[in-house]
Amino acid sequence: MDSVYSRVAENNVVWHNGFVNRVDRNEAYGHKSGLIWFTGLSSSGKSTIAHAFEKRLFEEGIKCYVLDGDNIRHGLNADLGFSENDKRENLRRTVEVARLMVDAGLIVLAAFVSPFRRDRQYIRERFKNDNFLEVYVRCSVDECARRVPKGYYEKTRAGIIKGYTGVDSPYEEPENPDLILDTEKMDKESSISLLYETLMNRGWIG
Ligand code: ADP
Repeated sequence: MDSVYSRVAENNVVWHNGFVNRVDRNEAYGHKSGLIWFTGLSSSGKSTIAHAFEKRLFEEGIKCYVLDGDNIRHGLNADLGFSENDKRENLRRTVEVARLMVDAGLIVLAAFVSPFRRDRQYIRERFKNDNFLEVYVRCSVDECARRVPKGYYEKTRAGIIKGYTGVDSPYEEPENPDLILDTEKMDKESSISLLYETLMNRGWIG
């Protein structure tokens, strides 16, 4: 992935600093900006929680936005498929959009399966520790299977649908996430409260 960035130097492209920076925006909006990255199996609850949390923050006047994996594939990433390379590029572009949004003063909530530690480490490195949170939305494969339309997981187990994370393609659990939301034990509201508390403790919101 790093090779992409070497072109920037080759083409002599220079970053232009404006008169207004992230700190100015954070002060004006009354909260810090940052990326909350939700990782976990499909149907673990990432989107449900991200959207519910966005609503809670929005109602309190906090500038925020959900980057949803499926939505991004409708536009910016419509040219990408599901090969290893395309999946990685999908992630890379998403992270760069998140970086711009964080620079613009928003709290960004990104819901992506993102099964590989290497990729998640890459995302963390594109951010500074003070404005990045990795949230592991934990749920067993069996419970995820109960949550999706009947037959879907059965088809993946039978090999009819291939490359499904958690069934025939690995999910590497986060070793040291900033927060774990165990959606088999916690209801949605408890997850929202815990997220809110975490942002308060980290000083993102006051
Ligand atoms: P993902 O984004 O991880 O693929 P979704 O949020 O799209 O998952 O789907 C999760 C499903 O599980 C939703 O239908 C949601 O209502 C359900 N669900 C059941 N219990 C929970 C919970 N405790 N937290 C979040 N979602 C839950």
